[in-house]
Amino acid sequence: MPGAGGAKAGNDAPVRVFLAEERIRRKVRDLGRQIARDYAGKEVVLVGVLKGCCIFMSDLARAIDLPVTFDFLRVSSYGNGTESVGTVRIDFDVTQPLRGKHVILVEDIIDTGLTARAVMNTLRSKRPASLRLCALLHKPDRAQVPIRIDYLGFTIPNHFVVGYGLDYAGKYRNLPSVGILQRTS
Ligand code: 5GP
Repeated sequence: MPGAGGAKAGNDAPVRVFLAEERIRRKVRDLGRQIARDYAGKEVVLVGVLKGCCIFMSDLARAIDLPVTFDFLRVSSYGNGTESVGTVRIDFDVTQPLRGKHVILVEDIIDTGLTARAVMNTLRSKRPASLRLCALLHKPDRAQVPIRIDYLGFTIPNHFVVGYGLDYAGKYRNLPSVGILQRTS
């Protein structure tokens, strides 16, 4: 319920707010400043993993006071439920040459780490000048492979979260906060 620590954004089930909008805003601003400092005088390519990156990446990009370009790729790793199917396939790839560019992969959440590892390997094979990983959320309890996250928003416990780009069965991406879906049955 909106107003009671919950949020719906027109969706069916209530969501218990876990990371409020203002907290996310402050963190994204700090990440943007850190990136701008680290890449001062350079141009950065933000590569987002669709669709979960869309909200985070658009806010992050606006917090980076540098020339920034966008690219996207899409992978299949999850179905319509909450569990990983274990394999990662690149469904479509970036559309620009990344050779010699400063690339930052932007992920909504690092869960098992399998997606980020596969995508980082794909991007590394394109010979960028540098490659770093930026993720809004990290669930270290679920890690199956070690992943170095260069820019991290929040470490969270093992809950399935929605909002701020993260979905459940395609919905909830438009919640301005990150929350935990409340089972209604
Ligand atoms: P990984 O390969 O690290 O296990 O999973 C990464 C992808 O799984 C994320 O990009 C996201 O699409 C999905 N995922 C993992 N945990 C969650 C979660 O708590 N909520 C949602 N909505 N998606 C998640």
